[in-house]
Amino acid sequence: MIPHLPGDELVIERKIRTRLLPVLPAERPPEIRRLDFEEVRIGYDETTARLEAARCLHCPDPAPCIQACPLHNDIPTALWLIEHGDFLRAAQVFRQTSFLSEICGRVCPPQTCRNSCTLSAYGKPIQITPLEAFVADYQRRAGALILHRAPPTGRRAAVVGSGPAGLTVAEFLARQGHAVTVFEAMPKPGGLLRYGIPSFKLPKAIVDQKIADLEQLGVRFITGVRIGKDLTLDDLFAQGYQAIFLGIGTWRPVEPDWEGAELEGVYPALEFLMRANLPPEDLPPGKQEPPRVGHRVAVIGGGDTAMDCARTALRWGAQEVVVYYRRTEAEMPGNREERKKAREEGVRFEFLVAPVRFIGEEGRLVAIEFIRMTLGEPDASGRRRPVPIPGSNFTVPVDTAVLALGFRPDPTVAQTTSGLQVSRSGLIVTDEAGRTSRPGVFAAGDGVTGPDLVVTASAAAMRAARAMHEYLMAQPPATEREVSLLAEPVSA
Ligand code: SF4
Repeated sequence: MIPHLPGDELVIERKIRTRLLPVLPAERPPEIRRLDFEEVRIGYDETTARLEAARCLHCPDPAPCIQACPLHNDIPTALWLIEHGDFLRAAQVFRQTSFLSEICGRVCPPQTCRNSCTLSAYGKPIQITPLEAFVADYQRRAGALILHRAPPTGRRAAVVGSGPAGLTVAEFLARQGHAVTVFEAMPKPGGLLRYGIPSFKLPKAIVDQKIADLEQLGVRFITGVRIGKDLTLDDLFAQGYQAIFLGIGTWRPVEPDWEGAELEGVYPALEFLMRANLPPEDLPPGKQEPPRVGHRVAVIGGGDTAMDCARTALRWGAQEVVVYYRRTEAEMPGNREERKKAREEGVRFEFLVAPVRFIGEEGRLVAIEFIRMTLGEPDASGRRRPVPIPGSNFTVPVDTAVLALGFRPDPTVAQTTSGLQVSRSGLIVTDEAGRTSRPGVFAAGDGVTGPDLVVTASAAAMRAARAMHEYLMAQPPATEREVSLLAEPVSA
């Protein structure tokens, strides 16, 4: 036992007080950042990062932050290294378990590691994710990110989808020495990281860096090919791929049955985000025109995607952006910090309201009729069910509406793949290791769990990649003919 010395209490109290004074990462002011699509986060510099990391208590094993991180990053060790100014080794510690350090450092919500931090009890958790982003960027800027690849195994794998799950599997398998081809339906790789997250949260340059890392590891990207439509999984096996990973996500919007939802000026959330955040050359045919954002924008929904849409609409010059949600703020599914940022930028909220119909003139949206709601008994999700109040209808003039009502899986792959088991809601059924009912086919991410976090998709993909590596190593190496076939351009 450590003996108590005179004055110890003072030292301990001073330590605790220091630990309760967080150094928050810098952000651009709301009145400036809402005018452009540049990253909101400025983040830490060397001094502020060290000060914040020094607050870590280095909790005994198992530290709550490690347990809460889906990737089980060794956060206390990384923070100790940051505290001592060894940013390169800290970045390496994060990268031992995470292939998406820069990305998770920017988009992980507090409910992962941060809320579990012991200092949360005082309302002052360590800012773990911004520190991860800082050291990952620092390492890159220093040219110290070195990627190693094992000697070629002669085995071939196809990855369908290039979102967080697909990129994680591609990197894992490429590092093991397998030849990996990633198939992406969109014109550019990156999946939801590129097409679903606005640049002011995750700059496209960060996604481009990740793709470049994988190309450096020998990963081949084939874009503009939709698996299930242009090529089937059987085609891929016939072309010599010995294992296939499905990281197909949930790209289809939940469609409402409200009258007038097809009017010009009403957008599904993902289409709105894509058109508003990417140049035309990165968008698929038919979706290349920017959205028509009027002065008054209504966003329907309560999750993080709704906040992304609302903040994007402000950046497109909307004068009034209102988020309409059918329950109260306490039941909102999204992240509180995202709502705070949206409010700071000028987004307004209307709770306990739901659309009844969209009203148009000459085919174009001009207003939305809403009805007020009250909360009834809890539903299957445990949240109190919204119940319409008869006769409380009111109409609001609106130029543009964005529907952020959730996502569901695209059934195309399941419909064209025999022996692939899917759930009633269309999600791919797998075991813990990501094995599907079809031998040689693996899956993870939103297409298996439904919409979830980048980090949970990456963690599940890491497990699937391990199982896939094991499976591939039990297969014979590809023959020379198969290798040459794979080198040919893909014909859909
Ligand atoms: Fe440090 Fe918080 Fe993790 Fe404890 S839980 S080791 S204080 S980051």
